[in-house]
Amino acid sequence: LANINWDNIAFLPIPTDFMYAAKSLEDGIFTKGQLQQFGPIHMSPCAGVLNYGQENALRMRMGAERMCMPAPTVEQFVDAVKQTVLANKRWIPPPGKGSLYIRPLLLGTGSVLGVAPASEYTFLIFVSPVGNYFKEGLAPLNLIIDTEIHRAIPGGTGGVKAIGNYSPVLKAQSIAKDKGYSDILYLDSVHKKYVEEVSSCNIFVVKHNIISTPTVSGTILPGITRKSIIEVARGQGFQVEERLISVEELLVADEVFCTGTAVVVSPVGSITYLEKRIKYGNGVGIVSQQLYSALTSLQMGLTEDKMGWTRLSVSS
Ligand code: PMP
Repeated sequence: LANINWDNIAFLPIPTDFMYAAKSLEDGIFTKGQLQQFGPIHMSPCAGVLNYGQENALRMRMGAERMCMPAPTVEQFVDAVKQTVLANKRWIPPPGKGSLYIRPLLLGTGSVLGVAPASEYTFLIFVSPVGNYFKEGLAPLNLIIDTEIHRAIPGGTGGVKAIGNYSPVLKAQSIAKDKGYSDILYLDSVHKKYVEEVSSCNIFVVKHNIISTPTVSGTILPGITRKSIIEVARGQGFQVEERLISVEELLVADEVFCTGTAVVVSPVGSITYLEKRIKYGNGVGIVSQQLYSALTSLQMGLTEDKMGWTRLSVSS
C-alpha cells in the first residue's frame, strides 16, 4: 500500500464522441440537453449502487491478494466510486433509459520485465452510460455447453475478477455467437459434469420452486449480483441452495437464469448440450421474472431498500 499514490485515482470525464459511439446507448436518445437531466442514480450494474463499494471493494481486495497487488481499503474504494460518480453525474442516463456503469480497475504498471509483481499500481475508475440491457422486456438467453473449453481450473485464478480470466474463452465464445448462441455455459474441468458459470455471469436453476446455484469454490467468480439475488430470493420466501449442480440436473430444471452486473437477471430460454437443445417453458420463467423485478426495483429506488444497499441518490 505504501507504493500507492491515492491522488492517482483517475476521474475520467467521458468525451462526447465516445458517448455517441457507445454501441449500447439507444441510438439518438441521449442528446446533450437530455443528459443534463439526471434522475436518481440507479446503476443497474450491481458493481454500481447495489452494495456499491462494500462488496466490490472486498472482492477487489480478495483478488488483489491472490495477484500480489496492494488494494484500496473498503473506505477508499467506496469514496473513490462516490467521487467519480459525482464528478460525472451529467452522464447518468434519465430514469428508465439506462444506467451508469462503473468499472473500478487496479492496474500493475512500472518497469518490471520479469514474472514478478509490478513496481507501481494505479487504481482507476471509469464510468460510462449504458442503455438498458433489455430494450423490450426480458429476452431469454440461448446457451451452449462447451465440453472442451474451460474457463478456470482448480488452483488457478478463476475466482478472481482478473482480466486474464477472460482470455481462455474469447475464441469459443465468438464461435458460439457466430452460431447464434448468446453465450457458453462452462462445466468444471475435473469431472466435466458440474455446472460452473457463463462467460460473464453466474447461473441459477429452479426446480419445484427451490432455487440452486453452484457453490463458489475458486473456479467461479463470486458475483455480487449472485449474492444479492440469493438474499433477495430468501427475503421473498424462496429456499436457496448453494451446492454442486450436475449438468443432468440442469437439463431437467423448471427454469434457469443468469445473474451479473450487465445481465442483471436474465432468463435462459434454452441450453444445447451434446447437440441436443433443451428448452425451458416459454423462455421467461416466473421466478426469473419475479427476481428481476425485485432487484431492479431496489436499484431504481422503487421499493424500500431494507438491506441498506443503496448508497447515493442524486436528483436533478
Ligand atoms: N462470472 C463472471 C465470469 C463475470 O465476468 C461476471 C461479471 N462480473 C459475473 C460472473 C457476475 O458477477 P457480478 O454479479 O459481480 O457482475
